[in-house]
Amino acid sequence: MRGLLNRYRQSIALHLLTVIFGFYFLVAVLVTVIQLYKEYENTKKEFYEEIQTLPATFGKGISDSVWTYNQELLRSILQGMYNLPIVVGVKIESLDHKMDLQIGTVFNEQNEVTYFDSMGNPTEQQLFGLGAKSLFDYQFPIHYQGPAFDEDILLGQVTLYSNDHLVFERVKYGFFLILINSLIKTFALWFIIYFFIKKYLGRPLEEFTLKIQQQNTQSPQPIELEIPWTDKNELLILKDSYNQMIQRLNGHQHELLKLNQELDEKVKARTFDLEQAKESAEKLAYSDPLTHLSNRRAFFDFGQQMLDQSYQQKTPLSLIMLDIDYFKKLNDTYGHALGDKALQAFANTLQNHLRPADLLGRLGGEEFAVLLPNTAEMEALAIAQTLRQQISQIELEHNQQFIQFTVSLGVVESNRESANIDALLAQADKALYVSKDKGRNQVTAYSEIDHDLMP
Ligand code: GH3
Ligand code: MG
Ligand code: MG
Repeated sequence: MRGLLNRYRQSIALHLLTVIFGFYFLVAVLVTVIQLYKEYENTKKEFYEEIQTLPATFGKGISDSVWTYNQELLRSILQGMYNLPIVVGVKIESLDHKMDLQIGTVFNEQNEVTYFDSMGNPTEQQLFGLGAKSLFDYQFPIHYQGPAFDEDILLGQVTLYSNDHLVFERVKYGFFLILINSLIKTFALWFIIYFFIKKYLGRPLEEFTLKIQQQNTQSPQPIELEIPWTDKNELLILKDSYNQMIQRLNGHQHELLKLNQELDEKVKARTFDLEQAKESAEKLAYSDPLTHLSNRRAFFDFGQQMLDQSYQQKTPLSLIMLDIDYFKKLNDTYGHALGDKALQAFANTLQNHLRPADLLGRLGGEEFAVLLPNTAEMEALAIAQTLRQQISQIELEHNQQFIQFTVSLGVVESNRESANIDALLAQADKALYVSKDKGRNQVTAYSEIDHDLMP
């Protein structure tokens, strides 16, 4: 019910109709009132005219009865007049007052309303229900016009009383006819206009609104309306404009989508490039460009992690430090390029003889280190020996000559004291120094160093 009310409150048809009906009704009432007033005036004039014809009808009878003092006759004539619908009272005043008579509603000498019955006797009872407020009177004289005298002799005068209400009563019926007529016309017009405004304007607008509300905002489609007319009108123009706007909007949306896709692809490509750049930057930051092994920084970072892990898991871990023998001389004798080749061959050989879990790094120059997880000193020494031997077998070709070189190694197994990689490296370095001191191409364990002999 509430929804229905709301719907009607929004209806153009009803709103227009209220306004049109209101104005039309006001005009209709105004016209009717004017009509009634004119009719009233006219009827009143007719009353006067009718009353003025009465002397001609009754004058002779009245004067005869007054002249002959025939009260019976006078009373019956007056009663006849009183019975006319336009008369509410009759008063006869004769000159000698012998034939004075009043019937119905009349004024007395003091201009007060008094009532008399049909016999001419005063009565309290109101003879005429419409009241006496709008009484008006008409007087005419009575003359003797008989054969006794040549000239007219004045015998008295007759006063006829009528009432405005009688006029109104007569007009009233016509007025109600007019009023009902305009009411019926107004309502008929109201319903006709309401029906057609609703049909041609209200319904199509409602349908239009509903279809707009049901539009998919992602891709709105042109709307078709069931409009009961085909020629161009404001509603059709509105619909066409809406549809044109929708098409333009869809065009823009399509372009936007395409641009978005292009942007997306560009962003993806750029992200891919960036990721690659980042990857190579990371590689650069962590790897040695000549040998592609972990550089010093990477070795320290990963090495410390491996060391911590071995402590947590209580597993052994060993470190081998390697330094090529007389490398400066190799460089000086055969050139820096051969030195580089030697370093690459050295790195490859080490890599080939280590396990995937082992961490091999170039600490700088011709100095390398290997971290061996899950490896105790004994095993580490064996690995170090293998490496030393493999290195000594490398042959570098230079000017139809085969050049060989050796390496010195220091081995240490971590313990509680060597909690960080620096300490462990320092111990391995000491062992390496001993290998160099003993004549190079040797492996020394940190545990077997005679610390008293150390410089
Ligand atoms: P030792 O047996 O005592 O280790 O003697 P060594 O000559 O090997 O020792 P030293 O530390 O005196 O010499 C290291 C040389 O390694 C010095 C430097 O010219 C050379 N070197 C360092 N980095 C590179 C490199 O990347 N390429 C080449 N070709 N030579 C390098
Ligand atoms: Mg060195
Ligand atoms: Mg060296």
